[in-house]
Amino acid sequence: MRKPSMLMVCCALTLTLVGCTTSDQSKTEEAENKPAETEQQTETPAETPTDKEDEQAEQPTPETEEPTAEEPSEDQPEEEVPVAEAPPVEEPTEAPSEPLEQNGTANLKLDTLVLVNKQIALPAGYKPADLVTANIDFVESATGERKMLRKEAAQAIEKLMTGAKAADIELKGTSAFRSYDYQVQLFNNYVARDGKEQAMKYSAPPGHSEHQTGLAIDVSSASVGYQLTQSLEQTKEGKWLADNAHTYGFIVRYQRAYEAETGYMYEPWHLRYIGVEHATDVHKANVPLEHYLEQLMD
Ligand SMILES: [Zn+2]
Repeated sequence: MRKPSMLMVCCALTLTLVGCTTSDQSKTEEAENKPAETEQQTETPAETPTDKEDEQAEQPTPETEEPTAEEPSEDQPEEEVPVAEAPPVEEPTEAPSEPLEQNGTANLKLDTLVLVNKQIALPAGYKPADLVTANIDFVESATGERKMLRKEAAQAIEKLMTGAKAADIELKGTSAFRSYDYQVQLFNNYVARDGKEQAMKYSAPPGHSEHQTGLAIDVSSASVGYQLTQSLEQTKEGKWLADNAHTYGFIVRYQRAYEAETGYMYEPWHLRYIGVEHATDVHKANVPLEHYLEQLMD
């Protein structure tokens, strides 16, 4: 049903890729893609958000230096508003037609739709540039980078946790970002303990963890001692997650029905951020992310 013309696809793709163009149109596109907040554009992880805000506040905003006596209208800048003339094309947030992977390496251009699984790995040292600490409750063992997510996903999990609390649902994050190096360390430990053949059966080699995308987080509840256990499914917290996570942009990535497909056991605790629109579609379709993306990029 989504058949954007090649031209549109190219436009959307170009605009997505050329992040720093200054044309009004690209700003608009960007704004549409990330409606949440446009104020914090810093790329580095904001360790001290207050500092960043101050920094921004101090920066003088470049006003238009037109000394002409014309009355400035805030609503209509008059000049250079090609946006208004643009034809009512379909939402450019529809994913561009992109390959999901190349030679087993994930396509990072897919951004928040990036696909990582047992067959597709992230580039070895990949680390998202916009990791921030998610401002939610975590279990004590989660420290440092393990509390980080990409900015968009961090904001979404904060909203999810707020929504959960309002519904009397108590959840905590147990683990979010997982670096490549940490995966190497974990995997080597498993191999040393059980041998490579065994280790491969329950753990993916480094680069294959969705947690490395900065878009995945494991959450659990007091009712199961904050363990990552399938019995979370039977708790009211687990049920709330299954029913509501998509409204915040997350999917329960590894469903019981997908085990054969994904090669992962059912993980009611593992949430993957893909944005509200896509998460809602995946939830309704009840298909593995792999299927959804294959169709979307078709
Ligand atoms: Zn997980």
